[in-house]
Amino acid sequence: TTTILEIKNLTTSFATPTGVIKAVDNASLDLGQGETLAIVGESGCGKTVLSLSVMGLIPDPPGRITSGQVIYQGQDLVQFSKKQLQKIRGNQLSMIFQEPMTSLNPVFKIGDQIGETLRLHKNLDKNDARQAAIDALKLVGIPNPHKRVDNFPHELSGGMRQRVMIAMALACSPEILIADEPTTALDVTIQAQILRLLDEMKHRMNGSLMLITHDLGVVARVASRVAVMYAGQLVECANIIEIFKDPLHPYTKGLLASVPKLGSRAELTPIPGNVPALGNLPRGCRFHPRCKFAFDRCKEQEPIIQNKDDRQIRCWLHS
Ligand code: SF4
Repeated sequence: TTTILEIKNLTTSFATPTGVIKAVDNASLDLGQGETLAIVGESGCGKTVLSLSVMGLIPDPPGRITSGQVIYQGQDLVQFSKKQLQKIRGNQLSMIFQEPMTSLNPVFKIGDQIGETLRLHKNLDKNDARQAAIDALKLVGIPNPHKRVDNFPHELSGGMRQRVMIAMALACSPEILIADEPTTALDVTIQAQILRLLDEMKHRMNGSLMLITHDLGVVARVASRVAVMYAGQLVECANIIEIFKDPLHPYTKGLLASVPKLGSRAELTPIPGNVPALGNLPRGCRFHPRCKFAFDRCKEQEPIIQNKDDRQIRCWLHS
């Protein structure tokens, strides 16, 4: 597959009262054309900051990309001006956020909000934008799109609002769609529908999808490759089959053990302990206080990420 987006040694730092922390620490990752790449980890692992960095949406201050590149169409997005970023955001590069209620504007009709994106990027006039908004609503499976187009966000259910967000993000047929926990706020049946919809849309647009989630169960249905993050770093990256059949990193194993299996009554085993605060990282491997395989070296020396066959792994057990 051709690479459509290349994240190279990306570090995003935040100023905090107790010092500068690296929310994303030297991450390198490729997104292939037509691929669905999942970025997985508990909250506080840096996956959302990584996606906001790609979108040029890090609030500055307190945040800033302090090194690295995000290469798209031969250009480094990190070097883009605000204006240049605005031009591609929502157009070639689009993002769906976790909670539609906070990203949809409550005082505007949903049709106007979708239309706004289209008018901005595609120069459509008001009537054409409205028609395109209706088409977009229809595409994402909203019944009676002619009526719904004049609804306000609060008049829709959670699942419908998430569909509207998807319609908005896809209105300009982006090449890359980033979805940050797009199903977290929804119940299980709706979650499955939204994931199916995202997958279908990706195929229809021949685009690439970056799916940010804490839930490896979600990933199994749609992703082709998985990148696992822990405490700001990538710790494992492999294709979906390898991740499920033969996870190498103890953190990946831990995440898998906490996914409910269909028809299994086996107890779920959550990973003991918490993600460390980025301002107070343990010495050595950042995962070692929670790792049941930790040995002396892990407590002293930080493992580096290494290529192993066609996967990447950061663990002293596999170096
Ligand atoms: Fe566990 Fe050591 Fe591997 Fe870290 S390096 S994940 S502590 S075995």
